[in-house]
Amino acid sequence: MTDSTLSEVEKKQQYNFNKLAKRLRHNVGDAINHFNMIEEGDKVMVCLSGGKDSYTMLDILLGLQKSAPINFSIVAVNLDQKQPGFPEDILPAYLTGIGVEHRIIEEDTYSIVTRVIEEGKTTCSLCSRLRRGILYRVAEEIGATKIALGHHRDDILSTLFLNMFYGGKLKGMPPKLVSDNGKHVVIRPLAYCKEKDIIRYADAREFPIIPCNLCGSQPNLQRQIIADMLRDWDKRFPGRLETMFTAMCNVVPSHLADPKRYDFANIKADGQPREDGDKAFDKEVFSDPARISIMDSRRPIQVEACGDA
Ligand code: SF4
Repeated sequence: MTDSTLSEVEKKQQYNFNKLAKRLRHNVGDAINHFNMIEEGDKVMVCLSGGKDSYTMLDILLGLQKSAPINFSIVAVNLDQKQPGFPEDILPAYLTGIGVEHRIIEEDTYSIVTRVIEEGKTTCSLCSRLRRGILYRVAEEIGATKIALGHHRDDILSTLFLNMFYGGKLKGMPPKLVSDNGKHVVIRPLAYCKEKDIIRYADAREFPIIPCNLCGSQPNLQRQIIADMLRDWDKRFPGRLETMFTAMCNVVPSHLADPKRYDFANIKADGQPREDGDKAFDKEVFSDPARISIMDSRRPIQVEACGDA
């Protein structure tokens, strides 16, 4: 359809979609650059569950692959865990249709999990452990140099709060890290993308979404509480989620309380003024949260964050 045959409403929808797609592409491009996620010659194994996040990740990576100044290949991998009612034709048809190299791995982890875990108990931890092992094995078999997962900014923030509220740790979910078996580099190209942008994008692109409740597992209650809290904050305090994510990119170990991260035991006053030294008696000054961006966090100390005066 050409521009002249579109109605005003369709033109507006097209304009909004283009803006959204551009923003997501920039978010992914920035995350890839800031963390050096993808390098020349990489073979990226894109883990595809059939949910909105992994479809969006694959779609945007395929777009970036065309314009990137480096060469890298993509293999989409889906693990069919044999959950009852899993629509096994959807992903192969989609992936063949868009012409991307792919593997569908069939492993009946569902039977193992339902046999081993007592009825009524949560199955997610064993299920995801099994899935992780299989995906690592596949990454080795296909010679993947990176494993890409579809976690986005809001997953990263939720994990931070889960760890703080229930785990007593200041720990989130990294955009890039070596896998726990030490053999793979795991990347999260959607690390800077907001979940609400991904929902709108997946909706507009009409990805053939596979429902995520086929295993019959109850949603994790703690995760649910955190997700509700973040959604509520986002509504009542626009800019707060952005600021919190920026804070994760702007960590000041000397202003926390972990002697393993900062050598408090051996600090000495050497008479040299320090921009990041303790201001002891000053009140904190805060910027407008809506104006703090990830890019700001890459400059030396712009924002005085944390702490009631
Ligand atoms: S929700 Fe179901 S498929 Fe997902 S990790 Fe939990 S048990 Fe496994």
